[in-house]
Amino acid sequence: MIGRRGWGGSCAGARTVLLAAAMAACTGCSGLGHVDGTLFPAPARDSITFWGHACCYIDVAGVGIVTDPVFDKDVFLRHRFLPVPPPSSYAQARIVLISHAHSDHLSRSTLATFPRGTVVLCPKESAQYLTDGGLEVRPMAPGDEYTCEGVRFIAVAAHHMGSRYGVRAAADGRALGWVVETPSATVFYSGDTNYFSGFANVGWSYHPDIAILNVNGHLLSRDAARAAWATGAGTVVPIHWGAFGHWVVGGNKHPREEEQLKRLIGDRLVELNAGQSIPITDPHRVRTPALP
Ligand SMILES: [Zn+2]
Ligand SMILES: [Zn+2]
Repeated sequence: MIGRRGWGGSCAGARTVLLAAAMAACTGCSGLGHVDGTLFPAPARDSITFWGHACCYIDVAGVGIVTDPVFDKDVFLRHRFLPVPPPSSYAQARIVLISHAHSDHLSRSTLATFPRGTVVLCPKESAQYLTDGGLEVRPMAPGDEYTCEGVRFIAVAAHHMGSRYGVRAAADGRALGWVVETPSATVFYSGDTNYFSGFANVGWSYHPDIAILNVNGHLLSRDAARAAWATGAGTVVPIHWGAFGHWVVGGNKHPREEEQLKRLIGDRLVELNAGQSIPITDPHRVRTPALP
């Protein structure tokens, strides 16, 4: 068993636990966005596919790992302009990684559309928002680990607010990033976070090959470059944009400070549009879904 502290474990037993509202017909979820199966077909194997904002689908040998899925039409101060994937495109999802409780990262109505047996790994602070849904919820703290199908998940600290409407940012474990160690590569998802020493800790401890960084509103170009440098990742994927317009600051259809971001990070930067994917082992080969 792997697990350095707190609970550790594997998903074998967890598969027997059900998502109560699982596989509820997405069309019945009136609060969710318009489904587009052409833009979001079933994700490519052994790849990372960008699904807008903070949501990526990571396929590891057919096992689906999804970061912060929020398919709602509206969330706090934001309105969705991007369609959403059909449930058939995440029928193979086994793990959902929640970084924190903000409404653009944690959506009960979205999680209700995930398959039975999906395990949700989340900060302890977020677990209170995931009760009564029949979810297999695994609250975790920095350093906690979980394994599933040969993939190891490690919770790492983020410097961000942990509560749903909080404004006090701290690296206190109430918001998390995630390290995903697959047999072929290690992927780091930052979650929302300021730049802080945790990036260097991730670099030293886990040597990620690919860093997925939440840029808009958080790691703007200089801090994204610092984070990229600190993690040592050879590939940097900027996310936290491309799905929701913000009622106050607007925009969000491109990474902010995009040109500076490209200049500072250089060839390591791989910017994906919604629906595009990169192979985990060849992350500079960007692929676009084939049109019908
Ligand atoms: Zn946040
Ligand atoms: Zn966010």
